[in-house]
Amino acid sequence: MRKFSKLDLNSITNNNRMNVFNCILEAKKINRSVIAKKVDLSIPSVMSITEDLIEKGIIYAVGKGESQGGKRPEMLMVVPDRFFFIGVDVGRTSIRVIVMNNCRDVIYKISKTTESVESDQLIGQITEMTMNSINELKLPHERIVGIGVAMPGLIERETGRVLFSPNFGWRDVPLQDKLKSSLPFNVLIENANRALTIGEINNMQLKSNSCIIGVNLAYGIGSAVVLPNGLYYGSSGTSGEIGHIIVENHGSYCSCGNYGCIESIASGQAIARQARIAIDNKIQTSIVEKCGGDLKKIDAKLVFDAAKEGDSLALSIVKKAADYIGKGLAIAINMLDPEQIILCGGLTLNGEFFIDMIKEAVSKYQMRYAGSNVQIIVGKSGHYATAIGGAWIVVNNIDFLSNS
Ligand SMILES: [Zn+2]
Repeated sequence: MRKFSKLDLNSITNNNRMNVFNCILEAKKINRSVIAKKVDLSIPSVMSITEDLIEKGIIYAVGKGESQGGKRPEMLMVVPDRFFFIGVDVGRTSIRVIVMNNCRDVIYKISKTTESVESDQLIGQITEMTMNSINELKLPHERIVGIGVAMPGLIERETGRVLFSPNFGWRDVPLQDKLKSSLPFNVLIENANRALTIGEINNMQLKSNSCIIGVNLAYGIGSAVVLPNGLYYGSSGTSGEIGHIIVENHGSYCSCGNYGCIESIASGQAIARQARIAIDNKIQTSIVEKCGGDLKKIDAKLVFDAAKEGDSLALSIVKKAADYIGKGLAIAINMLDPEQIILCGGLTLNGEFFIDMIKEAVSKYQMRYAGSNVQIIVGKSGHYATAIGGAWIVVNNIDFLSNS
């Protein structure tokens, strides 16, 4: 018989505790014998775990439920304000902060324009917005499990350093260390596409035995690959850079330093740039009127609005973007045959027609018979999806039940 070491036993106990807690969280209200069946533990084990969780103020007994023949069982629920998880989305155009409670409900959200891309000033803004949120809600500091910061670019996981963020022009910024010195909490840094994907998977309660790919179509384009046991990082931590697959030889310059990447044609910034160039070249379009003649005001949303009204320049830019995104997704499908692809990010909020164009391009480019089970779906968490994902990174990576 295998002997368990002390370490093994500890992790089994922690695992059982987490399973019991998650079972109560999922059911909202449940009794001990149902928990025992669902998590496959004995009733005495569930009794001992739930007593411990009640003592620590993490769950509470809420009264008696319906009798199943014997005594009426005591019902248990999660205490909503026992723990808080904070998520921060560091975007090129706006910074968003959300607070999630112990029941995984988002109880607060705020968004502000990104004031500066310079690292110290941006870190100052993140700190200020986070502390203001905590103060406004009067959150007791000891109940804050941590802050999950979702940052675009290549992140060194172990140290929370931003190795390279083309959108911000950052190279080797010790973001985690700097935030830890200004915020008295646990701070985790995760790549924004990964945080977003984890957030959407949890919000939609998706489960897969193969893999799920989340694709962020926004100011930039990125993706994340999630396997049954969690995020897939790759050998050097840079997996998921779908936006930097080169699809046009001698194409436009991309912020990564290459030319002709999908991001340089199909991202929000690229869509706006192509409209500006076309207008400079005297091509007739309703976009000029929409931006009041100020070309600096052109953004992807404006181009999409014109496309929806049938403007031919806008339509051609949007169609080209969808076509190249479809090409990228077809490459991913041929390589990985995922169960689901979740399309997220600002560009997906522009309507069904863009999603339909992408799906059409995917079926044009994917190998025949490959990926026949792949479902392409759209994320549901809207503008705050990445910030919500940041909070989920804290939920998934800090063992708050054992440490409380
Ligand atoms: Zn690139």
